Amino acid sequence: MSLVEFDIIKRYFTRPAKQQSVSQSVGDDCAVLTLSSNKQLVLSMDTLVCGRHFPEDAAPYDIATRALCTSLSDLAAMGAKPLWFTLGLTLPAASHEWLSEFSQGLFAISDRYNVDLIGGDTTQGPLAVTIQVHGEVDQGQGLCRHSAQVGDSVFVTGCLGDGAAALAVLQGEELGSAVDKDYLLQRFYQPFPQIAMGQYLQSIASAAIDISDGLVADARHIARASQVDMVINTESLPLSDLLSAKPCYYNEINHIRSKRLEWALTGGDDYQLLFTVHPEKLTQLQLLIDENLVVATNIGFITAKSQDVGDVVCYLNGGPYSVNYPLGGYQHFVT
Ligand code: ADP
Ligand code: MG
Repeated sequence: MSLVEFDIIKRYFTRPAKQQSVSQSVGDDCAVLTLSSNKQLVLSMDTLVCGRHFPEDAAPYDIATRALCTSLSDLAAMGAKPLWFTLGLTLPAASHEWLSEFSQGLFAISDRYNVDLIGGDTTQGPLAVTIQVHGEVDQGQGLCRHSAQVGDSVFVTGCLGDGAAALAVLQGEELGSAVDKDYLLQRFYQPFPQIAMGQYLQSIASAAIDISDGLVADARHIARASQVDMVINTESLPLSDLLSAKPCYYNEINHIRSKRLEWALTGGDDYQLLFTVHPEKLTQLQLLIDENLVVATNIGFITAKSQDVGDVVCYLNGGPYSVNYPLGGYQHFVT
């Protein structure tokens, strides 16, 4: 390890741990962590590559917040409680200004969700950020994709569409002056991982996933893994305020209205949870909704698969609705 790397790590990535479970954090050969009894460790790793997952001119603060928020969303989808994370950082050059802003963004989010940075690796090369998050669930209680059953209801948390609208802004689409671009960019760079809702749903949902690639694409993961079909009633989708704006004399709003179904169905980046619930658990879910602990909308149900593999079937006002995929997957900024 060179002195420069040592300085970077000490100066920007070393902080006292908040969790008692951390016996050794950044600075030794390994982190040492105490595991709780009757819990299972839940892990997930994601890499964000400059120019592919975030624009080349993205601010370092924003890169950090997006990387950690989107990683934490995977823990939310399992119903896990976040504990720790590690950071693999590949940097073209070690600029103090860049590192200072990046670490501020990183710790703003780690403080918000009470997770400790416990180690990582720092290397030189094209800008890329890898985060591995670690969380815990009660034994056998993690929410998986493979356990949706025929007869379950399908729900989505929060509302959909701002992620796709934000991406449209970032890709230079003109949404007009009536649209609050700062708000949308905030949604892109600081999506809310639904950590609390994920934990409430742990004992209620039969299967869950976070919506990172688009509702239908992620719904299909549940359908395939569970070997069922998922029916989605598109008129039930909870649209964000921007997408549900009434028609008006601003052409841009009318443009957004024309895109809203497509954005809600295929746009990624909302990081809401899509989950299924067995009929016996619906009353419990309703209690959580009534207490405002969970915000969720019933958007469909699970049926037996009609083909070899499970799939997603969309309806609009009772008739079949075929979904376009104009947004084309997750490689947002490939030119
Ligand atoms: P080694 O050569 O033993 O692998 P490293 O130089 O990779 O040591 O890292 C030294 C210490 O700094 C380790 O505790 C490692 O986890 C931590 N570390 C390195 N890079 C980062 C980073 N980007 N964020 C947090 N901790 C880091
Ligand atoms: Mg190392």
